[in-house]
Amino acid sequence: TERTLSIIKPDATRRNLTGKINAKFEDAGLRIVAQKRIQLTKAQAGEFYKVHAERPFYDELCEFMASEPVVVQVLEGEGAIAKNREVMGATNPADADSGTIRAEFAESVGENSVHGSDAPETAKDEISFFFADLEIV
Ligand code: ATP
Ligand code: MG
Repeated sequence: TERTLSIIKPDATRRNLTGKINAKFEDAGLRIVAQKRIQLTKAQAGEFYKVHAERPFYDELCEFMASEPVVVQVLEGEGAIAKNREVMGATNPADADSGTIRAEFAESVGENSVHGSDAPETAKDEISFFFADLEIV
């Protein structure tokens, strides 16, 4: 089985959507094997999203991710990385398939409720960014 790193972003924690989003993951067969609510500093958000450092939205993205608490979690299951991205839907909620988290909950392309790792290598790095091995059960 595979693991992926998920973040419930500030726009979603602010609107009390953690439970509804977790239900979508669980209904899709993903198991939440680690979870915590934290507030990132802007520097930590910048480090996490450093692959996007040259993108025009980088500063706005880091401000947003540090603006309020997030819920970081590890999801586990068969093909968890792809399955999670399927449940999340397209980055821009206007393009997201109906029934996906972003179609139902996202406010804009920036404030789009969830993050999910995009490949096995990034999943490994992103999980260890937030969690020690012993915290994942
Ligand atoms: P994530 O990495 O958060 O799971 P993603 O892989 O669908 O989302 P990326 O292209 O990796 O999308 O972009 C990372 C994040 O940057 C997006 O989720 C969104 O919050 C923000 N972002 C992406 N494109 C834009 C944009 N054009 N304007 C503002 N913010 C954007
Ligand atoms: Mg991405």
